[in-house]
Amino acid sequence: MTVTAADAQLIRCRQVGHTFGTGSNAVVAVHDATFDIPPRARIALMGPSGSGKSTLLHMLAQLEMPTSGTMTGSIFQARNRPGPDTIGLVFQSPSLIPALDVLENVALPLIFAGASDTQARNAAHGALELLGLGWLMHKLPEELSGGQAQRAAIARVLACQPRLILADEPTGQLDHATGHSVLKVLLQAADTLGAAVLIATHDPVVAGLLEEVWHMKDGALERSLEQGRS
Ligand code: ADP
Ligand code: MG
Repeated sequence: MTVTAADAQLIRCRQVGHTFGTGSNAVVAVHDATFDIPPRARIALMGPSGSGKSTLLHMLAQLEMPTSGTMTGSIFQARNRPGPDTIGLVFQSPSLIPALDVLENVALPLIFAGASDTQARNAAHGALELLGLGWLMHKLPEELSGGQAQRAAIARVLACQPRLILADEPTGQLDHATGHSVLKVLLQAADTLGAAVLIATHDPVVAGLLEEVWHMKDGALERSLEQGRS
C-alpha cells in the first residue's frame, strides 16, 4: 500500500462539527473545523470558556462523535490496543484512583487494554521515571502534591505510548510555577516519544511554550488550514 500525503497526517478534519441536543435545545458547540494535525505537532488551543475547546478535544479522542464533517488520519487506523498508535487525554483534574498507588494507577489503562500485569507495571515504571516520579511510585494519590498528581496523570497517558497527546487545561488547577514545570515535563516526554501535542489552555504562558496557537470563538476555529480540499 502506498502512503499518501493524506495518510501522513495523524488527523485530518474537514468541516467537523458537534451539536448537542436537537430542535430548540440545539447547542452548536463546534462547527466547520477544518485542520490537520501532523506528527510531532505542538499546538495550543485558546479561547474563552464555552467556545468549544473541550468538545473539539473530545471528538479527537473519540469520546464524542462529530455530528457533521469528516475525521480521518493515520491515528485512527490502530486504535483499541496498547501500542504506538493511541491517543492520550490529560484532563484538568488528575482523577487518580485513591485506593491504588501511583504505579498501579499508571499501569491500569494498559491492564484494561489487555497487557499482562508485568508488561503494564514495566511500562508504568518507565513512564514514571521519564517524568522524574520513580521515587513516588508506591505513594497513594492523597500523599501527592497537586503538581505531582498531575504529573502522575501525565505518566498514565505516556505509559500507553500515544502518538497524540490531548490535554484539556492541564495546568488549570496548578499555580503558575508548578503548571509551567508540569508542562515542560509533558513536552519533554512528548519529544522522547515522538508524540504530537494539542493543549487547550487559557494561559498565554502555556501557549507560548508551543509552536502554534489556534483560537476558538463561538464554536469556530479561527486558524483553519484550507489545504487538501477536494
Ligand atoms: P470550552 O471547553 O471552550 O469551555 P465546551 O466545548 O465545553 O467549551 O462547550 C462548548 C459549548 O457546548 C458551550 O456552549 C457548552 O455549554 C456546550 N456544551 C458542552 N457540553 C455539553 C453537553 N454535554 N450538553 C449540552 N451542551 C454542552
Ligand atoms: Mg473546556
